[in-house]
Amino acid sequence: MSYLSYHLQTNVTGWLDAVARCKPRALKVFQIEMGNDTKAVSPDTLIVFRHHIEHQQPYLDRAGEGPAQARDAAAEFINRFEDSLNRQGGIDYVESLNETYATGNPETLRKAIAFDIGFCEMLAHICPGVKPIVFTAAIGNPGHNEYAPLLPLAEACAAAGGAFGYHAYHPVVNGVSFVGSAGHQRDLHLRWCVIDDFLIATGRRVDWFLGEIGPIGANNDGYGLRANDGWKHGGVWGGDRAACVEDLAAFDRLLAGTRAAREGRLLGATIFTSGPGWKHFQIRQPILDEIADYIQANPTPEPAPEPRIVDIIDQLTMEPENGHYGERHLSGIHGHVVHHSGTRASLTAEEAAYYHVNTKEWPGIGYTFYIVPDGTIYQTNPINVSSYHVGDLNHRYIGTCVPGNFWSVQSVAKPSLAQERSLRWLHNVHLPAVLGRSIPLLGHKEVPGAQTACPGDNWDWHKLDESGGVEPDPDPEPFEVVELRVATARLNVRTGPGKAYAIVGQLWQGAELWAEHVTTNSSNGDKWACFAELWAAVRYNGVALMEVVE
Ligand SMILES: [Zn+2]
Repeated sequence: MSYLSYHLQTNVTGWLDAVARCKPRALKVFQIEMGNDTKAVSPDTLIVFRHHIEHQQPYLDRAGEGPAQARDAAAEFINRFEDSLNRQGGIDYVESLNETYATGNPETLRKAIAFDIGFCEMLAHICPGVKPIVFTAAIGNPGHNEYAPLLPLAEACAAAGGAFGYHAYHPVVNGVSFVGSAGHQRDLHLRWCVIDDFLIATGRRVDWFLGEIGPIGANNDGYGLRANDGWKHGGVWGGDRAACVEDLAAFDRLLAGTRAAREGRLLGATIFTSGPGWKHFQIRQPILDEIADYIQANPTPEPAPEPRIVDIIDQLTMEPENGHYGERHLSGIHGHVVHHSGTRASLTAEEAAYYHVNTKEWPGIGYTFYIVPDGTIYQTNPINVSSYHVGDLNHRYIGTCVPGNFWSVQSVAKPSLAQERSLRWLHNVHLPAVLGRSIPLLGHKEVPGAQTACPGDNWDWHKLDESGGVEPDPDPEPFEVVELRVATARLNVRTGPGKAYAIVGQLWQGAELWAEHVTTNSSNGDKWACFAELWAAVRYNGVALMEVVE
């Protein structure tokens, strides 16, 4: 699972042996010929080339004058190395200008983005087959309220097959690492994930390459980073190699848990630095080899397979005596409702079906999908079947159950990562493909009128929703509102649409009522009217029991 690798300003002693042994996902080099050397010993390692220049400002100033000038400025920058790059090969990505993104300075931000867009466009022309790395932002930039200007850059970058290159240092103060601190993650070393979430919410996905990472000194609160204090500094790890490698491993595990990692969009993370200067940051022997040991022991896994849907509709308990679920038009589906089972996580779909049929006396299992802890998605009803799971709004919502009890009052459990990953795919990829549009993801308790703790409060299902967060209609329009008059001597009122439901009263001939909803049972043609959460037959066994009041 390791995403770690080296940031090689030069060919320090032992670098090629270490790379040959640990075969990192991606490597950052400052010398083009080191790319070919690496490919010879580790062909799958992605090589990122950084062309270091001293004076970046003239390029930015020109890029700020307009798109044509930005392309000119980018071409001039690229031409400084393209000869050697096109001749030697071995380079997969090239970085743009370094750390040009600032906070609270819109003009500087605008120029940096303009140059990077020009860089994406011109690199493909001048160095065909080599991809751009842009947004090599220094840690903590830009401001959390300054992500919107990145949208056109994300498009240009994705179109060029490139990546964003945020620098993701994490603070360590006197041997205490802030790698696990949520606030520091949001503002510093996982800020790129906040940006990624922002981009995804607007329908944009980019790859990420963390071009500089590692422990860095800071004030006691973990902020106020000290740019010259690397792992060897007394206020960081004080040269304690084992502690530093374990700290890097903790950061590596954090990366493996990110959305970009699960989706295969995280290319790698290179530890700053090996080469001239930066004496407290030096990654040389023996820590160079010790990091290789760690990477070798935590190799790149096979990418996780796409979630899959297993159709078990015909294998689950059903009971015709309990009636049949009606059909619905897909155009009437307004949302996707997630449930927990409120039980042990190992509850199977068959067990849930048995409970719904034999205890609740429903026609079949109430859910459309059922996602077990290993991430397998079972389809338990067709999508166009209006099964019971949200009272009298069943026809409006697709229902997915994540078995387990996620309510803090009773349990500390959360869904597994595999369950969340599958729910994310089901909701954001599969359902939009079936429906031809996106729908919001709701917890059961968010359904208008619901009175339930389902699906608990130990987890945040909203973070899985990429639909754009359309809020549920808080007061859905009544549908098919129709005034009906009882046309038979006495008509039973039941708790649900079928004779299996308990009788709770009777209506007399001539009584009139407003029905909020009329369902038709597609198998036998029975029609049931819903009014004030109670139900009565409109047509039963081919006989009209109520008539429409004109
Ligand atoms: Zn529920």
